[in-house]
Amino acid sequence: MYELTADQRVILDALKSFLKNKVAPGAAERDQTGEFPLDIVRELGEMGVMGAQTPAEYGGSELDTATFAMIVEEIAAVDGSLCLTVASHNSLCQGHILIGGTDAQKAKYLPDLAVAKKLGAWGLTEPGSGSDSGGLATKAVEQADGSWVLNGAKNFITQGSVGGTYVILARTDPARPGRSKNDGISAFVFNRDEVEGFSIGRKEDKLGLRSSDTAQLIFEDMRLPADALLGQRGRAFKDVMKVLDGGRIGIGAMGLGLGRAAFEFAAKYATERVQFGQPIALNQGIGFKLADMDTKLEAARLLIGKAADLKDAGKDFTVAAARAKLFATEVGVHACDEAIQILGGYGYVKEYPVERFWRDNRLTRIGEGTSEVQRLIISRAIVAKYQQEMATA
Ligand SMILES: Cc1cc2nc3c(=O)[nH]c(=O)nc-3n(C[C@H](O)[C@H](O)[C@H](O)COP(=O)(O)OP(=O)(O)OC[C@H]3O[C@@H](n4cnc5c(N)ncnc54)[C@H](O)[C@@H]3O)c2cc1C
Repeated sequence: MYELTADQRVILDALKSFLKNKVAPGAAERDQTGEFPLDIVRELGEMGVMGAQTPAEYGGSELDTATFAMIVEEIAAVDGSLCLTVASHNSLCQGHILIGGTDAQKAKYLPDLAVAKKLGAWGLTEPGSGSDSGGLATKAVEQADGSWVLNGAKNFITQGSVGGTYVILARTDPARPGRSKNDGISAFVFNRDEVEGFSIGRKEDKLGLRSSDTAQLIFEDMRLPADALLGQRGRAFKDVMKVLDGGRIGIGAMGLGLGRAAFEFAAKYATERVQFGQPIALNQGIGFKLADMDTKLEAARLLIGKAADLKDAGKDFTVAAARAKLFATEVGVHACDEAIQILGGYGYVKEYPVERFWRDNRLTRIGEGTSEVQRLIISRAIVAKYQQEMATA
């Protein structure tokens, strides 16, 4: 956890060289144009990054979660938009197929996803349901022949308009008596080129992550075959929670990577920038900011590493992932904000990348469960622990 293994060093060296030569030069321009970098994503597919944790039998790299988090951190430090593409394609779409898929579904979808021949999207959020995702309104109705007809819409879906394979959550059954409204929800997986009644709605014009694709999905009497059902009918919500637990480690690493990039830029700048006859870093007001940024980012990395290790050990990592995401994204965004302050006016203009890092990072406190939702998860676990302790005392 503290030292890179030889394998991690090889993977990260190759990735860093690719990022420096192929990704960094166009990142600022793509931020302006919003162009989705399909060629770069395909090259990352050839490098094994797009199927990072997918088993080798499906063409993936089968990496552990800590290594995946390091990859995400490195990509974020160069291009936040590309990072969100990589993180969501791996953790959400492939993550859900790996958790809920039959052998036949894995064999059908994962090989193309693992090499980015197809891009993966995952649709949970709707216009009326975000944090309260169990309140979704998309309906799937079973037909006499076992097929399904879906109606509804999804909002803010990453890879929404560039996706090839989609995992979608829909209500198939009313919640059973005594259960929460999260009961009765099912997941479906399909290739876009194999269905009718599916269309792309509005593409979002975003504050940051501008060359990541975010779009609305619309289902109008979209028919899916019986074997599109992913996981158990009506019980998908527990798989959704597992997918999000894993995804949160990735989004935490993204928050960390963007924060680190801002910190590194600000540290160099503050060492060079002279005001009142000395580098501004020699003022404690600036030097202590750098010290706090550095310390908090390192602490975030350790929380991410712990959550990743628990996940790979097959232990419960829900709270660890919530802590990692909450802390890494909050300190990551704060580091970006402090970097702007350290650069002064130069932090506020597009000549330097720190304003882009801040805009890109702002999403990490929102996506895959807001900071408030992470605090709900952590605080509920605390209360449950002490209730149990008091009941048995
Ligand atoms: C760029 C981008 C990419 C995304 N990609 C995807 C994707 O690929 N797939 C997908 O399904 N979704 C995706 N999302 C959606 C994202 O997960 C949601 O935006 C997020 O979960 C919050 O939902 P909401 O926007 O509806 O906000 P709301 O749930 O309406 O929340 C609004 C505010 O209220 C707070 N709040 C809500 N409930 C509580 C509570 N009980 N206690 C305290 N505070 C509360 C929230 O924390 C937030 O601050 C994406 C969003 C963006 C912006």
